[in-house]
Amino acid sequence: MRSHLLNDLTAEHYRRSVTEGVERVAARLAATDRPFTGVTVDALAPRIERIDLDRPLHDTTAALDELQDVYLRDAVYFHHPRYLAHLNCPVVIPAVVGEAVLSAVNSSLDTWDQSAGGTLIERRLIDWTAARIGLGPAADGVFTSGGTQSNLQALLLAREEAKPGREGPAGPARLRIFTSRASHFSVQKSAKLLGLGPESVVALPVDRDQRMQTLALAQELRRCREDGLVPMAVVATAGTTDFGSIDPLPEIAELCAEYGTWMHVDAAYGCGLLVSPTRRDLLAGIEHADSVTVDFHKSFFQPVSSSAVLVRDAATLRHATYHADYLNPRRAAAERVPNQVDKSLQTTRRFDALKLWMTLRVMGAEGVGRLFDEVCDLAREGHRLLAADPRFDVVVEPALSTLVFRYVPRAVTDPARIDRANLHARKALFASGDAVVAGTKVAGRHYLKFTLLNPETTADDIAAVLDLIAGHAEQYLGESLDRAS
Ligand SMILES: *Cc1c(COP(=O)(O)O)cnc(C)c1O
Repeated sequence: MRSHLLNDLTAEHYRRSVTEGVERVAARLAATDRPFTGVTVDALAPRIERIDLDRPLHDTTAALDELQDVYLRDAVYFHHPRYLAHLNCPVVIPAVVGEAVLSAVNSSLDTWDQSAGGTLIERRLIDWTAARIGLGPAADGVFTSGGTQSNLQALLLAREEAKPGREGPAGPARLRIFTSRASHFSVQKSAKLLGLGPESVVALPVDRDQRMQTLALAQELRRCREDGLVPMAVVATAGTTDFGSIDPLPEIAELCAEYGTWMHVDAAYGCGLLVSPTRRDLLAGIEHADSVTVDFHKSFFQPVSSSAVLVRDAATLRHATYHADYLNPRRAAAERVPNQVDKSLQTTRRFDALKLWMTLRVMGAEGVGRLFDEVCDLAREGHRLLAADPRFDVVVEPALSTLVFRYVPRAVTDPARIDRANLHARKALFASGDAVVAGTKVAGRHYLKFTLLNPETTADDIAAVLDLIAGHAEQYLGESLDRAS
């Protein structure tokens, strides 16, 4: 069994085993002709249930053969140009090399004595990202597991910074968070985790382009103050999950300054603009933020997980600091030992930063930005296709790379039937495996969504998938009519 431990004696076994795993993936990627096989839960579950975890195979090749059957064959493949569903990207190879290195070396970024250079690399990348945002000289931050955790940490800092007003200390019942109706659900989840009630999150209306209405924000902030409540934070979104819409950051920044409110920008999706050669201006105003969420695993083509939370003032990170004698004693902080755990909600933590480091060292920031630009250009082209196609109704002109639309048969007026036809089309498409698309609701009605993050997807792919959707929807409407008559 010792031969399975990765060490100086097993270098050859390591090399062979990992190469074998890589070969399997490479072969599978090359053979992928659809993003998904359409396998059902019922078909797949027994294959996994059947495996006796108490009877090991004692052989990597055999385990990989088995894995082929329970996972690799039927996985959902984001690198396929017709995977158009969620905010998942095809990954860049330098990052995958980084992933292989970081899991083998297995540094843990909580303390310097578990990481050394990894800590410094992460810090350089945090500084680099903060500089791209324009957060100023006191900025800092830390890598996290994802946008959800980044938002949680930012709101934790905001809660701690919400100073007692003249009326007395700000008890949790008086704290308010303002965000748009199109923002991510992790805002509500964070509020709950932070001990704030559901009334603490004020969801503001959006304009036609799905951007926060700043007039409504101004009104609500005023009312908040009049009611003796504390405006703890405004969460602006730079790239909403559904529409890619970017809230008016400069106006929001002004209001936050006026009310002394923490400004958090959730750029989990829109962070790709930080490196875009042509679209960086869309993020104008982000430099005023007190904290920013970036998900490199969305628009930087990084493998999951790779995300960070950045703050304007490093001192605010102290709200996440606890000292343990066995790990990061107070003394270490005084001696300026760089223990990243002092800034993080996590303790043991992956060296995810290495993936971004490898990416920047091999491709450069512009290389990443150009890829993101390509998918934004493609979304515009897709929007033109949809707008010109009488079979479809498209919601907003894309700011980033999502398209929200629905199939609208001219002959059908019953909105519930149109809803069902769109729901059916999405399901049927998934079951066929020909393409994977997402769905959402707009004003109570069911819509379909393309999230374009694959530069290999073409306008022809979009046109072909639209035809498939229309075909499935028409078939459904035809069959449901037959049943009705
Ligand atoms: C994806 C997303 C999140 C959550 O990020 P995870 O990495 O999935 O935890 C938060 N906000 C926005 C706007 C997102 O698109």
